[in-house]
Amino acid sequence: MVPAAERALRDGHPWIFASSIREVSREGRTGEIAVLFDRKNRFLAAGLWDARGPIRVRALVVGKGAPIGLDLFRERVEAALHLRRPLFRQPRPTDPATTGFRVLHGESDGMGGVILDAYGAYLVLKLYTPAWLPHLPALLDGIEEGWASAGPTGSPPEGILLLPSRRVEGELPAGLELPAAGRGEIPRTLPFLEHGLRYEAHPLEGHKTGFYLDQRHNRARLARLDWSSLPGGGAEERRRVLNVFSYTGGFSLAAAAGGAREVTSLDLSGAALAQAHRHFELNQDHPEVGKATHQGLEGDAFALLADLGARGARYEVVVVDPPAFAKEAGQVPGALAQYGRLTRLALGVLVPGGLLVQASCSSRITPEALEGAVFRAATEAGRPLRLVERTEHDVDHPVRIPENAYLKAVWARG
Ligand code: SAH
Repeated sequence: MVPAAERALRDGHPWIFASSIREVSREGRTGEIAVLFDRKNRFLAAGLWDARGPIRVRALVVGKGAPIGLDLFRERVEAALHLRRPLFRQPRPTDPATTGFRVLHGESDGMGGVILDAYGAYLVLKLYTPAWLPHLPALLDGIEEGWASAGPTGSPPEGILLLPSRRVEGELPAGLELPAAGRGEIPRTLPFLEHGLRYEAHPLEGHKTGFYLDQRHNRARLARLDWSSLPGGGAEERRRVLNVFSYTGGFSLAAAAGGAREVTSLDLSGAALAQAHRHFELNQDHPEVGKATHQGLEGDAFALLADLGARGARYEVVVVDPPAFAKEAGQVPGALAQYGRLTRLALGVLVPGGLLVQASCSSRITPEALEGAVFRAATEAGRPLRLVERTEHDVDHPVRIPENAYLKAVWARG
């Protein structure tokens, strides 16, 4: 191993790139356990070998050796669930419940390449490297046992759905079929609660594992909005929210639960908007949601925002949460320009003094860069903004490595 890679590993970054490896005893097969030694030939780490990926080894144990298998996987799941207890623990039965959350956030939970999300008693597993496939039975057992002992239900999961990722699909060994390789029968629709609101995830058709769990505390923040501090002083007809890039209306429903009266979800996908309507239907017995109207606008956000602005549509709150614009380093300048364009367009429909919430889910865009793009565009548009808050993911998306710090949001008044 080259010294810099050794240092990074000891500092807690578990990726070993092919270029950092000095010498191998023999070429491994994908999924074999790799044991790494330092320059003095002492044990450094052990992890999963990936013969084709640029990340050649994902370390699972560092410094002190431990067998890689069922016991380790169960312990990692238990530790992750203990961290998340504040999220799903419900001290009194009347407290609003959360049953949809991320159980394993890859490297940040000591399980490089593994994403595991819970929707009620069902779990959805996504593997980002085929190196996990030979360990799948032990991994599934570890997940079942860990969930049974430390999870919210006190019993094993009803089922585990295994979702493909691009890398895994491309290198599936003969005889293994996804998603059949999971455990149990999984319904197409997985209902769950978030702070007491009813949502549904569709892992096989949806984005991510079926829902953007990462925005939970931003939605909760919106649901706690003090409308009296906004233009209109909280008057019912002045509680209008536009949710741009709404997907299935996560922010829309949270805004309605927080007292918004006119909510508009805007997205390119008609199916996502239909599900957003369904989320409102599911929560009609909520005292605030029942009083809100919900409208879907299908089409391109840039064109529709310009159109709404020109037609005089105005909102007290605008949420802008686009897909990742910068997937590679070279796309960062273009992405920042897009964020700026979106800020200008959003300000065109925001009442003076209203609240703009603008998010980025690209790990390559830093919070400072997003904030810079948003504030610069606002100043250039003659609508300077005042910063209210900066936010990140909720506690079920811990950030132990920079690559996991993808979500950031700016809350500003303009
Ligand atoms: N805010 C959502 C997640 C947004 S994901 C939530 O909290 O659940 C990004 C969404 O942007 C997707 O639903 C996708 O359909 C939509 N989208 C992508 N490009 C778009 C465009 N040009 N105009 C409108 N919507 C777009």
